[in-house]
Amino acid sequence: MPAIYLKSNYIAFILFFIAGLFCINSSFAQDATSHSTFKFKTVIVDAGHGGKDPGAHGAYSKEKNVALSIAKKLRDLINDEMSGVKVVMTRSTDVFVELHKRADIANDNHGNLFISIHCNSSPQKRSTERGTLLLVYGFHRSQEQREALRENASIYIEKDYKDKYNGYGSDAVVNTIVLNAFQQKYRKQSIQFGDLVDHEFKKTDGRRSHGVKEQGVLVLAQSGMPAVLVETGFINNASDEEYLNSSSGQTEIARSILRALKQYRDNLEGR
Ligand SMILES: [Zn+2]
Repeated sequence: MPAIYLKSNYIAFILFFIAGLFCINSSFAQDATSHSTFKFKTVIVDAGHGGKDPGAHGAYSKEKNVALSIAKKLRDLINDEMSGVKVVMTRSTDVFVELHKRADIANDNHGNLFISIHCNSSPQKRSTERGTLLLVYGFHRSQEQREALRENASIYIEKDYKDKYNGYGSDAVVNTIVLNAFQQKYRKQSIQFGDLVDHEFKKTDGRRSHGVKEQGVLVLAQSGMPAVLVETGFINNASDEEYLNSSSGQTEIARSILRALKQYRDNLEGR
């Protein structure tokens, strides 16, 4: 009898879980279709790395500084050109902010979209690869984890990272299921925004593009909103590094993200 009792409890749990998924999906559908009521209010701009975490290195520059410069330019452009949209920065100076705190800032401020600014780098000292890449949180595919592993490496600087990140690095099956269910709600919108940014980089700026990819990037997974990580170029490629450090290059990147953001908001609001 206890075995049957346990089994029915288990079935009840599964049904409850599936019902939860259904609720998540219907609230997503509501967000995306009730055009007349949805208002895009808050965007979170996240400059990657910072402080004791420099990120990737080029020949003469560091990812943390490039990311912050572009993030500030993007903030200023949104403030100038998108009235009614509030920008929240996860950092605006050269400080170290733990990944889960970045997600907390985003969630506490009820962001409608999380944009994380980074630079890519290849394993070689000097890269022949160049161009942009957009990452959205998705199921792990072992061959495509290079960028995710590199961007997630920030947590090894943090203390107690296994407690803070749902047992990252260990088996946490239930957490993975919940995380994945949670992510389904925002996956589609994240890809939509990623595609818009990708289009601007390619068509307007003529950048080489590595497209939009799904990877297990932690900072995106923990933010309860659509979220995209922008790899703005390869910092260890000579021509990309020059572009990424130039004021004109940074402005071009920020402007492209701004145009994509306006389009994304207009689509959601049914304008
Ligand atoms: Zn990075």
